[in-house]
Parts: sequence; C-alpha cells; structure tokens
Amino acid sequence: MARIICIANQKGGVGKTTTAVNLSVALARAGERTLLVDLDPQCNATSGVGLQPANNHPLLLNAPLRDSLLATQWQNLDLLPGSRSFVDVDRLERGSESHAKVLRQHLDVSMASFDYVLIDCPPSLGQLTQAALSASTEVLMPIQCEFYAMEGLTQMIHVIRTIMQQGDGRLTFGGILLTMYDPTLELTHEVDAEVREFFGDIVFDTVIPRDVSVSEAPSHGLSVMDYAPRSRGCRAYLELCMEVLERD
Ligand code: ADP
Ligand code: MG
Repeated sequence: MARIICIANQKGGVGKTTTAVNLSVALARAGERTLLVDLDPQCNATSGVGLQPANNHPLLLNAPLRDSLLATQWQNLDLLPGSRSFVDVDRLERGSESHAKVLRQHLDVSMASFDYVLIDCPPSLGQLTQAALSASTEVLMPIQCEFYAMEGLTQMIHVIRTIMQQGDGRLTFGGILLTMYDPTLELTHEVDAEVREFFGDIVFDTVIPRDVSVSEAPSHGLSVMDYAPRSRGCRAYLELCMEVLERD
C-alpha cells in the first residue's frame, strides 16, 4: 500500500511547500513512484516544480484524479496541480466530510500506481487540510525554529487526534521536522530541545538548515538537489528522504 504523507501545519512560512517539493523529488530520485498533490490555493508547490495551476480541480468536479495528473521533469514524479478555485472550498463551513471522502476515494484509486503520495496543505486547519489528513496514512509536521514555534500546535494536534479517532483510523504521526535550523542561534537549540522533549522519537534526527539555496531553487522551478547539489540544504533533504524510507 502506498504511504500517503500529509505535510501540514496551520502556520504559513514554516517550510511545508519546500519540504513537499524537495522530499518528493528526493523520493522519486530514489526510485519510488511518487505523486505530489498541491492542495494549497496559492499553488506554490505547482510553480515550485515549474508547472501551471489547474483551472478546475478534479476534487471540486469529482472527476478521476488520473486525468489531471501532470508528468514532471523528474522521472517517477507526477503532480496533481493546485487550483486557485480552492479558496472557495476553504471558506465553506460545511462539506468537509464530502471533500474528505472525495479526496480519499480518488487517492485510494490512484494508490496502486504510486509508492508515495505527498500532500502539500494550505496554512490553515480548514476544509482542505482536514480532508488531506483524513485521506492520509501519516502526517509530517514541519516546525520552524523560532520563538512561537510551539504556539498553535495544541490546536493542530487536537485536530489530528480527532481525525485519528474517526473512520478506520489509518492516520498516524509520521514525524516532526525542524526547519530553517540555524545552529549559531541560541534560540534554535532551545526550540530543538523543547520540541524533542515534548514529542520524543517522532522528531526526525535530520534538521533542515536555513540555506539560501533552498529558498532560491523554486524560482528556477527546480528542487534544491538540482539547483545546488553541493549545498547543505540538498544534503539535508536527501538525509530526510533516507529517514522517511527507513520509517516504512
Ligand atoms: P509554507 O509552505 O509552510 O508556507 P514555504 O515552504 O513556502 O512555507 O517556506 C516559506 C519561505 O521560506 C519560502 O520563501 C521558502 O523559500 C523559505 N524557506 C523554506 N525553507 C527554507 C530553508 N531551509 N532555508 C531558507 N529558506 C527557506
Ligand atoms: Mg506552502
């Protein structure tokens, strides 16, 4: 069965999209058949791999996902592009259950063709993130090493636990990833220690350093592995990929 990894944190700017794109490319390069699903109306993951957003999203049309998949420049990596029409979905108060159901059904059908499905979520705990969590087998939460890192996490964890207790309960904690890690800052070490004390083993050993190559790569439609193969960011995402593969 494919592993469906939901990359979520209701805060923006913590490295969700960056991790979704680079981990997808790393998995594909390791020979895993990978699907990157862009569920954010901002469509950053879509442009990050050098492709265009979709006008109408199959999730909203209830159409089969396979008709909307795009091949990427990387072997073994397909993209389900994001769509700006998602904005309306996240504003809806009802319907989360049906969106969750549609997403899950469609992902389940596509699962035979993939080893890994990575879902890049919007920075909210709205309909789309909840639908993605319900459709996933694990959740990967990036946390930025900053002062308010832990704030809001209680709410996030509450939503995750609620979804874990629903349905057939296939969602598990896939891991917590420390991002924009700057070892020269005392604060980084404080956040690191606090997060590891609170969450224990589910925190990845790999940390993603703050590295300008990581932030420059998407403007070229490339992963950091392609853009700066000797960079620390590249090494970190390859290391993360190994850890994810080992946790299977
Ligand atoms: P999110 O998807 O959670 O909103 P992004 O992945 O878009 O976060 O990252 C937010 C910003 O930080 C982007 O401009 C991105 O290029 C930059 N960024 C992400 N990770 C790193 C890193 N390790 N080093 C430097 N800049 C980073
Ligand atoms: Mg994002």
